[in-house]
Amino acid sequence: MIKYLQLQMQGNAYLKCVNPKCGLEYPIMSTNVQCENGHVLDVIYKNKPSPDLKETFYERRDSKGNIFNESGVWRFRDLLNFCQIDTEDNDECSKYLVSLDGAEGRQSKPYQMSKAAEFLGINKEGLWLQPEGYNPSGSFKDNGMVTAVTHAKMVGAKKIVCASTGNTSASAGMFAANEGIKCDVYIPAGQIAPGKLSQAYQFGAQIIQVEGNFDDALKQSLDDAKNYDGYTVNSVNPFRIEGQKTIPFRALEYLNWESPDWIIYPGGALGNTSSCGKALMELYQWGWIKKIPRIAVINSDGASTLSDLYNGEFEDEELRWNKGNPNTELISRYYDHLDKEKLRPKTKATAIQIGRPANIIKGLRALEFTNGVVTTVSDSEMLDGMSVVGLNGFDCEMASGASVAGIKKLMGEGIIKKDDVVVGILTGRQKDAMIPVDYHSNPQNVFANPPKK
Ligand SMILES: [Zn+2]
Repeated sequence: MIKYLQLQMQGNAYLKCVNPKCGLEYPIMSTNVQCENGHVLDVIYKNKPSPDLKETFYERRDSKGNIFNESGVWRFRDLLNFCQIDTEDNDECSKYLVSLDGAEGRQSKPYQMSKAAEFLGINKEGLWLQPEGYNPSGSFKDNGMVTAVTHAKMVGAKKIVCASTGNTSASAGMFAANEGIKCDVYIPAGQIAPGKLSQAYQFGAQIIQVEGNFDDALKQSLDDAKNYDGYTVNSVNPFRIEGQKTIPFRALEYLNWESPDWIIYPGGALGNTSSCGKALMELYQWGWIKKIPRIAVINSDGASTLSDLYNGEFEDEELRWNKGNPNTELISRYYDHLDKEKLRPKTKATAIQIGRPANIIKGLRALEFTNGVVTTVSDSEMLDGMSVVGLNGFDCEMASGASVAGIKKLMGEGIIKKDDVVVGILTGRQKDAMIPVDYHSNPQNVFANPPKK
């Protein structure tokens, strides 16, 4: 702790409210996830990292026995250096940085998948799909969880806390077990199929059932964290966003830091959209990239909050970042409307079955900066997307199929062009064994391969 406090004195990294008119600042050791006025926070770095680091990152791919070079997150540690360390030494790094022996992000990079390209009718050299399901807990969440748990360790937290119905609890439970700290997972009572929590159980997390819906579970987890000395690792935690920046970092590195035309994400809580936006803003500001890729966020038809608001489908107003002052009353009225009409988010792609995206404000900033677009796809389109990824020898969950389906839809609308360079993020590995079985058993489906008698 003493060493951290000394480091903190240097003050090269700190927290700052994202609202430009408010702009309150907090020391890096703060565990606030919001400013006093209820706005979300960013991690800010005073130093401008030199583009020479591109060479360092490349050299670290030969890890020389350093697990933090093996890690696809910590290999880029200089660009998320909230611990403010400056060392290549494995033992020194391990005093600060959390890692599952370098496994997080290690296998995730963009791949060319010719069958997916053929299905989409896009130039196959221009299509890159990046499977984040090959993270140790099976989803992209590990990228941001290592950084959040690193911060938890930095502030001496004994327990991490999250509300989750799936991937987040798996990732939190895994890193907590590995670090020897406790993990509480809040879920709405009686609404979650126990199978979705099997990894959390396996990693020894304590499941806490809350009467109400997911939002109630999240609220209680935030309150309990505050009152009983827990550390919140939901994606409202700004340190989660820092680790998730390495998803676009890895994509860009494999493209020799030449920006693609598009980066495509399934849209759930919008932590990915937010982190990609922040990564691109920083790289552009530091002069590492000259062109800003456009972000496309793909909602499910049945959980389309961002698409409805961004595309003006609610009260005819297109919700925008608006220089840091998005119309939050419009968002509140939309949520009231969902409650009043008893409209619950509904899709079989449970990873993006989210009605109130926790990172909507930062998501809007990302869309503004990248001239982004938002659209929706159906469950059956997502299943086709998921299945064609499988035919290339890569496993992904249904929500990840939204990236492929979204590219198809946007190409159909002439927004993405055949010759564009496109990176689609495949957010997680298949965790529901019956989804592909059911898909392939039905001969009506595009890629179905039913069993023979
Ligand atoms: Zn503020």
